[in-house]
Amino acid sequence: MQVVMIGAGYVGLVSGACFAEFGHHVTCLDTAQERIDALLRGEIPIYEPGLDDLVARNVSAGRLSFATQSNGAIENADLVFIAVGTPTRRGDGHADLKYVYAAAEDIAGHLRGYTVVVDKSTVPVGTAREVRRVIKKANPEADFDVASNPEFLREGSAISDFMRPDRVVIGVQTGRAEDKLRELYRPLNLIEAPIVVTDLESAEITKYAANAFLATKISFINEISQLCEKTGADVHAVARGMGLDGRIGKKFLHAGPGYGGSCFPKDTQAMIRMAQEHGTSSRIVEAVVEVNASQKARMVAKIKEALGGSVADKTIAVLGLTFKPETDDMRDAPALAILPPLMDRGAIVRAHDPQGMEEAKGELPPDVIYADRIEDAIAGADAIVLLTEWNEYRGLDLAGALASMRGNVFVDLRNVYDPEPMRALGFEYSCVGR
Ligand code: NAD
Repeated sequence: MQVVMIGAGYVGLVSGACFAEFGHHVTCLDTAQERIDALLRGEIPIYEPGLDDLVARNVSAGRLSFATQSNGAIENADLVFIAVGTPTRRGDGHADLKYVYAAAEDIAGHLRGYTVVVDKSTVPVGTAREVRRVIKKANPEADFDVASNPEFLREGSAISDFMRPDRVVIGVQTGRAEDKLRELYRPLNLIEAPIVVTDLESAEITKYAANAFLATKISFINEISQLCEKTGADVHAVARGMGLDGRIGKKFLHAGPGYGGSCFPKDTQAMIRMAQEHGTSSRIVEAVVEVNASQKARMVAKIKEALGGSVADKTIAVLGLTFKPETDDMRDAPALAILPPLMDRGAIVRAHDPQGMEEAKGELPPDVIYADRIEDAIAGADAIVLLTEWNEYRGLDLAGALASMRGNVFVDLRNVYDPEPMRALGFEYSCVGR
């Protein structure tokens, strides 16, 4: 099949490359000239494990190409995906749909023959119908259907998530559109991936409901972690005891500094806004957002307390800046909420991250010191704060680290290490909920 992907970001580039791997012919279009130039030079503009090989293989097989303009690609496409950003709109929490509608208008003028226009971006309920209206207005003669196919991949494991999904959700209005999408995803029949076919609105709500539920699990265990800290319980044991119940499940029950990233913060906000606009309530999600913000504030207090009540003139080695390991994405990373207040109180931050430092430089205060080597971040520091659980930080030379430090404080915001051995080594060790 001929496929066009509008937007070559985390979702568009991964989805496009994976559809090409399925055997389809895919053109990724992006308005960002430098992004397309990089891809044409064979460079991958984002960090996602395995994506470089996947892209290179499909480009050389002639199934994957990149451009800033349609150049006939949309005209020949069976399916055109919209995979542009839907960030939080400044001021009101609503998902900003300007990129989606700009893409829809752009698509409209190029449609020739029957085409399915598919929202892959995370968009509020009603958007697919609005995309339909925008295209119809711009090109009343166009023969097309709209569909919703929300994406559930996770950064860091995006390719395997896409190639072996728990499910594919497809919202359609016609059997013709359903047939096209089923044909597109046919390679997944081999692994019996469930395909949930529904109406447009249900597909759109499914994505927000899934993300809001996962964010709820995180805020829930973070709230429980506070009770554990007050009572001497161990949140790790509590989460295991809960999670082994098949009705609850083990995943997303890790206490930590609160969720961040490009999806949960904006999608929970948009969910609240969407409920308000439709005259219903979303009290659970509102509480989830509040608990998440207070968890980040609690982490600032925890670090301050670990350093004896004041961080002024204390050097803090921060290990990990991205919102999770195996990505360079800094969007809404907990580091952005936790480090600036420490620096405002006089802390000197020396940070290391295996992939995120370039991105972080544009987001964090300019006086953060970046260390290329973990050892350089740690040497002479008063405290280590482990903020993202990259594998590099799981096997630290702890004795060597402690010997090179000025102080002995270790604040483990991801519960990577066990308290007793850390204390036995000589660290003043604290973590979350244990
Ligand atoms: P991104 O910011 O990485 O990429 C978006 C790309 O779209 C950018 O390269 C931008 O230049 C391009 N773009 C914007 N307007 C365009 C236009 N009119 N024509 C062509 N290109 C245009 O965003 P992302 O992280 O890939 O997210 C895309 C969507 O997918 C969002 O709605 C997001 O919520 C959703 N989503 C993201 C993830 C994730 O893990 N990142 C997972 C599931 C769903």
